This record gives sequence, C-alpha cells and structure tokens, in this order.
Amino acid sequence: MAQIIDGKMISTMIKDECRNKAEALKEQGREVCLAVIQVGCDPASSVYVNNKKKACAYIGINSLSYELKEETTQEELMKLINELNGRKDVNGILVQLPLPGHIDENAIIKAIDPKKDVDGFHPQSVGALCIGQPGFVSCTPAGIIELLKRSGVTICGKRCVIIGRSNIVGKPMALLMLRENATVTVAHSRTENLREVCRQADILIVAMGKPRYIDASYVKEGAVVIDVGIHRNEDNKLCGDVDFESVSPVASAITPVPGGVGPMTIAMLMKNCVESIELQ
Ligand code: NAP
Repeated sequence: MAQIIDGKMISTMIKDECRNKAEALKEQGREVCLAVIQVGCDPASSVYVNNKKKACAYIGINSLSYELKEETTQEELMKLINELNGRKDVNGILVQLPLPGHIDENAIIKAIDPKKDVDGFHPQSVGALCIGQPGFVSCTPAGIIELLKRSGVTICGKRCVIIGRSNIVGKPMALLMLRENATVTVAHSRTENLREVCRQADILIVAMGKPRYIDASYVKEGAVVIDVGIHRNEDNKLCGDVDFESVSPVASAITPVPGGVGPMTIAMLMKNCVESIELQ
C-alpha cells in the first residue's frame, strides 16, 4: 500500500515556519501585509478569500481586504492596483480569479508590481522561473515541490509526467521539475496514448480537471502520484483527478484529496508573502 503524502501536516509545518519568520521580522519593526482583492461575490472565490485571510491571521501578518462589486470597471480595478503598488506598507497583492467577464484578466495580472506578485502569475515572474532567476512561483506547483521534498521523494534524474498544461499548474510545474533535474513530459488533451505515456512516469502529477479519471492502468508499479484535481462527487464529497482506491495499491506514495495538494497552495502563498518583504 502506498505511503500517504500528508499535505495537511506539511502545510502546517510551512505555516509555522512562516509564523516564526513573520515574528522575527516584527521584532525588527517590519510588518508583512497582504492585500486581497475580490470582484463580485462568487461563492467559491469567497471561500478561498476567507481561507487566505484566516491563514494571514494564523501567521500574524496583516491583511487588507477589498470586496468590490461585480460592476467594478477595469479602470477602477487598475486604479486600486496602482495605489497598492505604490504603498510601502503593502508587500503582496492578490487578485482573486476568475474575474467577471468584462475585465481583462491578463491586463490586471500585468498591472501588479512583480515585486508584490505573491501569486506568481505576472509574466515577469513566469519568465524568471523559465530562465532560472529568482522570483515568485505559482503557489500550487511550488507546494507540490515542497510535498515531494519533505516526503523524501527523489526528483533528480526521475521521469516525471505532468497531465495538464495550464498557466497556473501544468506549465510552472514542468519548469519547477526541470529545475529539480527531473526528465519532464507534459501531456494534454491532444496527447496520443496517454496511458502509455503515464506508465513511463516515476512521478505522475495529474492536473487535468477530470474527476477520478486516472486509475491503476495509467500508473507504473511503485510510481509517486500527485493529484491536483478538486471536485465534488455525487455524494457531495471531495475527490481528485485520480481514482485513489484503484491507484493507491500500485503507487509507492500518493496524495489524498482532500488533505494533499489543496492545503499546500495557501501555505505557499503565505511563504511568498513573508518572503516578499525581502524583495522590497
Ligand atoms: P485547466 O486549466 O482546465 O487545465 C486542464 C488541463 O488538462 C489542460 O491542459 C487540458 O489539456 C488537460 N486535459 C483535460 N482533459 C484531458 C484528457 N482527457 N487527457 C489529457 N489531458 C487533459 O485546469 P487547471 O487550472 O490546471 O486545474 C486542474 C485541476 O486542478 C482542476 O480540478 C482544479 O480544480 C485543480 N486545482 C487545484 C488546486 C489546488 O490548490 N489543489 C489549484 C489549482 C487547480 P488542453 O490544454 O489540451 O485543453
């Protein structure tokens, strides 16, 4: 039976490290502050925003909350971001996605000062990751690297297959695994023989957004399986992109859903916030 990679425990360790760092900064008279902007009142976004505020409180960093109405114009949002870019007491700026359809998401991401881009979505942050320079890294893939390292999984020299090529998960994940010296394959909806490609993997990272799609037939005996997907099943219970019951007897280690990758995303956001002060 596979080792269960405990994202809850590892994320708590990271948050506690952040709390110690934030405390040490406070003693030097430096306070960390994250500004969180939400446009509209999408219920899922409200849950995420609330969890981020709770994490800030746990770590002991200040959070500023901007809950803007759905009709907010792009110009109004830009104005707020520019104001926050200029504020010395604000270290990180996070705009909760998705934004309402009338707002150009790419333009908004680009407007955030890269030194405050704690989500790691700014083209400058992505470019820095691509050419191996320091900068913020998208929180979910950065969290997966922490999960692997802190669970004692060797990455260097291993074959890694990532299913999914989104800008927030698949692509930065591929760059991070490359940085860790894995041999990386990125699969997507046009990949031929997906099952055969996946069966090559020592480390299989699944971010495809398809509930319980990956069963044991996609997994090599002894592979490490990381499940990024989050869905609600027929019984309203959380499940991932991986069929945990089918895969766990074959894998050497696996992340559960919930309690695997999910809690790591917020922990890495907190890490980015605490570290942002060093860039400024
Ligand atoms: P996304 O933007 O929808 O991307 C899905 C990717 O999977 C695409 O690249 C797509 O290929 C590929 N794909 C879809 N069907 C496929 C198939 N049958 N075979 C092979 N590849 C296929 O999703 P995302 O934002 O990366 O998120 C993926 C999942 O992770 C979702 O369930 C999301 O809720 C979850 N998520 C979790 C966290 C967390 O904190 N745990 C964070 C972010 C996302 P094409 O590019 O060819 O369309």
